[in-house]
Amino acid sequence: MDKTYITTPLYYVNAEPHLGHTYTTVVADTLKRYWQSIGYDAFLLTGTDEHGDKIAQAAAASGSSPKDYADRISALFRSTWDSCGIAYDHFIRTTDDYHKDYVQKVLQRIYDSGDIYFGEYGGFYCYGCERFYTEKELVDGKCPDHQKAPEYISEKNYFFRMSQYQERLIETIQAKPDLIRPERYRTEVLAFLREPLEDLCISRPTSRLQWGIPLPFDANYVTYVWFDALINYVSALEHRGAESLATFWPKAQHLIAKDILKPHAIYWPTMLMAAGLPLYDHLNVHGYWVMDSGKMSKSLGNVIRPLEMKARFGMDAFRYFLLREMAFGQDAKFSEEALVTRINADLANNLGNLVSRVLAMQERYFAGVVQPLSASWTTEDAALRDKFIQAENELKGYMAELQFHRALESIWSALDHANRYVVQTAPFTAIKDPAKQVRVGEVLHHLLEVVRTLARVLAPFMPETALRLRELLVVDERALKNPWGEGFVAGHKINPPKILFPRIETDGKK
Ligand SMILES: [Zn+2]
Repeated sequence: MDKTYITTPLYYVNAEPHLGHTYTTVVADTLKRYWQSIGYDAFLLTGTDEHGDKIAQAAAASGSSPKDYADRISALFRSTWDSCGIAYDHFIRTTDDYHKDYVQKVLQRIYDSGDIYFGEYGGFYCYGCERFYTEKELVDGKCPDHQKAPEYISEKNYFFRMSQYQERLIETIQAKPDLIRPERYRTEVLAFLREPLEDLCISRPTSRLQWGIPLPFDANYVTYVWFDALINYVSALEHRGAESLATFWPKAQHLIAKDILKPHAIYWPTMLMAAGLPLYDHLNVHGYWVMDSGKMSKSLGNVIRPLEMKARFGMDAFRYFLLREMAFGQDAKFSEEALVTRINADLANNLGNLVSRVLAMQERYFAGVVQPLSASWTTEDAALRDKFIQAENELKGYMAELQFHRALESIWSALDHANRYVVQTAPFTAIKDPAKQVRVGEVLHHLLEVVRTLARVLAPFMPETALRLRELLVVDERALKNPWGEGFVAGHKINPPKILFPRIETDGKK
């Protein structure tokens, strides 16, 4: 069976789950469900990143130990994804013993091969970012992310010979054009690599920071948080056995937001090269959700909380909005107004109305009993089927390229077609003529095929809705996969309609 391995970043436990985390996680979940639906063995990893200065500081500020603090926020992430119905296969924490052991193994291996050395480094250090800045990178002498002047510190540390791998990294990125995608981020990385790559400081002295994984070759130091966290993508698989590591790792698809491009596109592949491990298959990079005030980041404010969105609008409606509104790779605007517009127009009016109309007619005209389909179809019948076959074919290409908004556009274009089919065939008028009753039964049979197809193609995007559709049609998962015209036998009884997406009044109340 073909495999795919999908990862979210490990979320840093200095903030509670917000819109940015939720988007990445929903995309990962959608991809996993999609690849599974076309027969792949898909594995989804998420988790939390828990070491480093920032966590130690946040814990101290809240009057708890770093471990207690990390336990609390990590549990919050996990329960949030559980409540949101995210189908992750494993939740990793960088404080898990197997992860710490594996990080030490990798460090020792790279140290033994001579790619880690001891040296002195002085520079401007931002505690918020947990990294040194060059003067060129500062804006008015301040960290551009935190708008705070970094401190100048000088200390002895261990360094990873990242510079040694610069040429090999450039060649690798050039040889595999979709290693980093979309293209704009690949271009950005290659541009960055035109400058000489510096070695990476991978340790922090315990005199300054204890909250980290000790270096296996020097107890006076702990591991730099990125050199620890990035390794999770491999340690989680290794923990499940050599077979998992060997088969899933080369199929890795990382999902990240653009703020962590550099660690994933530069540190991580060179670390893998030094450790003698294969590279990931794709690094998929998305943009920011922008509010009117500007960038939403982990440190500049958390306005949109996933569980609140779920409670107010339903998880599927929220998922639909996120996947439909953002072109993967580009920034997108978030507003409740746009969310409500999409729910009312796309979900309540278009999808919801069509389904309830079809089921209501089936119930009223035939007591919910599916009528036979004749062997000869009208041009309209065939066009309807073809439109949905086309949408499902387009879906394949769009999903492989992470163009979720285009995939949904294709499905909604087929939905528009189905709504026109209802107008063209006018079963609500035809039913009044006893001579046309057989034809009405056929038209409704085709429309039930529309609903069945929707239950299949919408499942990765809106899993709860797809399940509800399947329950309304009383079909099992196997019958869901049958070709058009073979989904129902005549005499099969379906359920009466239910409201899938209530319209939301513009004052925000249902
Ligand atoms: Zn900073």
